[in-house]
Amino acid sequence: MTPYPLEGCVSWNMNTVCNYRCSYCTQRFLDDRKAWARDLPGFLEAFRRLPGQWEIKLSGGEPFLHPQFLETVERLIQQGRRVAVVTNFSSSPTVLERYAAVTAPRPGVFSASLHLEYVSAATFLEKLLWFKSFYRGPLVATCVATPAQLPQLPELQEIYQKAGISLKIQPQKEDRDVIDYSDAEELQLRALGGHNGTGRLEASFRGRACWAGARYLIVDHRGEVWRCYPARRARSERLGNLLDGSFRLGMQAQPCLYEFCSCTVPFQRGMVDGGRDVRG
Ligand code: SF4
Ligand code: SF4
Repeated sequence: MTPYPLEGCVSWNMNTVCNYRCSYCTQRFLDDRKAWARDLPGFLEAFRRLPGQWEIKLSGGEPFLHPQFLETVERLIQQGRRVAVVTNFSSSPTVLERYAAVTAPRPGVFSASLHLEYVSAATFLEKLLWFKSFYRGPLVATCVATPAQLPQLPELQEIYQKAGISLKIQPQKEDRDVIDYSDAEELQLRALGGHNGTGRLEASFRGRACWAGARYLIVDHRGEVWRCYPARRARSERLGNLLDGSFRLGMQAQPCLYEFCSCTVPFQRGMVDGGRDVRG
């Protein structure tokens, strides 16, 4: 049995707002792409009550576009939470400098998504190197491996690697399933490190004990809580709502009920029994 994870992680999709409209965005069919978490005192109080150590991983949409983004980050840090972010990295230098300063006491992973439909790989790298010169936490770049973009990714990965930035690849998804790549494309994806460098495209841990629901949570902008992304998709293992008092945190690892696991956090942090041995 995988041991109790000392630091839990909340993936908080704090808004659906985004300034980009990527052709492969998994959220492009959402009814409302202008929503954001409004009751910040309610969210902050709920996060404060979580027992033990937690990282709050902010994502969206584009989380930097939340109207009270930096204020929220500052309050979470003051609570003693580590703050990580997944961003398209389009914010101004002033805002990014402020983010680095505010998170300095407990900086989590800064994950910058390269969207080649909006920015060139060279411009993105230049900005990343500037940011890396003063950001105190780990920094990674990611890129969705659409079939059209796949051929240029080995070279880009090498250029980024030489510059000291890890460029991780994410398989393209359609309706949250990995698209049908050809065998040759799958080989290329694996050679590039697989999904987020895990070595796999998609794995199944069904039946294995997983700490998601107890030490990993998905929270949306309305406060709805799910065990993990596949649980949210299946509309099962809803854990209540953070804002109306109905949220109940799991207490222990439970068997995984899902055919495929699209969450990298539990896998990468050793929260899934035997997960690191599986190659999908
Ligand atoms: S930046 Fe991310 S959230 Fe925004 S449109 Fe692109 S993939 Fe979707
Ligand atoms: S799908 Fe992944 S995160 Fe969810 S319970 Fe299964 S192993 Fe854990």
